[in-house]
Amino acid sequence: KRAAEAAERSRPAITTDGHEIAVAANVNRPDQVEFALVQGGEGVGLMRTEFLFLERGQSPSEDEQEAIYRAMIEALGPRPLIVRALDIGGDKQVPHLDLPREENPFLGVRGARLLLRRPDLLEPQLRALYRAARAGGDLSIMFPMITSAWELIRLREACEAIRIELDAPVVPIGIMIEVPAAAVQAKALAAHADFFSIGTNDLTQYALAIDRQNPDLAAEADSLHPAVLRLIAMTVEGAKAHGRWVGVCGGIAGDPFGAALLVGLGVSELSMTPRDIPAVKARIRAADKASLEALARRALEMEGAAQVRALDGEAA
Ligand code: PEP
Ligand code: MG
Repeated sequence: KRAAEAAERSRPAITTDGHEIAVAANVNRPDQVEFALVQGGEGVGLMRTEFLFLERGQSPSEDEQEAIYRAMIEALGPRPLIVRALDIGGDKQVPHLDLPREENPFLGVRGARLLLRRPDLLEPQLRALYRAARAGGDLSIMFPMITSAWELIRLREACEAIRIELDAPVVPIGIMIEVPAAAVQAKALAAHADFFSIGTNDLTQYALAIDRQNPDLAAEADSLHPAVLRLIAMTVEGAKAHGRWVGVCGGIAGDPFGAALLVGLGVSELSMTPRDIPAVKARIRAADKASLEALARRALEMEGAAQVRALDGEAA
């Protein structure tokens, strides 16, 4: 029975009309990969590297980082691994970095903004990633909190300089879409990014002006709010103009109804906490994409998140 369950989990998520959706895991450490694969994860869609810095009192060296990325690649074999460059700031503060205190850290020097100001953080991480990439595997690099194309252009230049210096292979470079400006300007960004992964946790926070950590507002911070869904639809449309793929690695990707809606909006990869994988795969296998597209079109017209959620019972 257990073998049958494992076989079921490892089957791909293909809709009844034949569209395959990639289902990946959000994983922070090499020792979490095995469980992700057992759950049916087909790769890692988001490795949050902040934890390498948060879990200890000092920054990991370039060599230490390389060893960790290599261990991830080894654990995954040929499966894809998307490593997100350091996303410090906002809810992820690292005391030993001694960064200036900010009035509004969520609107401050966060993610890519910090990386662009701190080559001493960016460059060792990129060097470690490119050194690890020389060992093979299917590595991609992803930058968090991108607002404008110039940030991505500068970060790509930093990647390319290090890649050439290390004689490392070209790896795809993608970005998180988690600032509303980036969703609105997805087409301009898609000219410079190899792929998008939508961070619906932050995208929801910034679109709805709701602190993602405020428990009083948790019920209102719903990523299925039609305003957020419209930003996702704009992201997919912008990506399509340049033939880029779009994934979602925010929490809503792990909600079976949310996942169904995202597929209907044209997302082709979903990355989530490993324990959510089996239910999401089952939901996708039970649906046909044409109905999910119709569902998504209806959801975009709803007046609020509650009305979108009420469509669940009717959905395929
Ligand atoms: C997100 O914002 O949705 C996301 C996946 O990134 P994080 O939760 O690490 O900010
Ligand atoms: Mg985020």
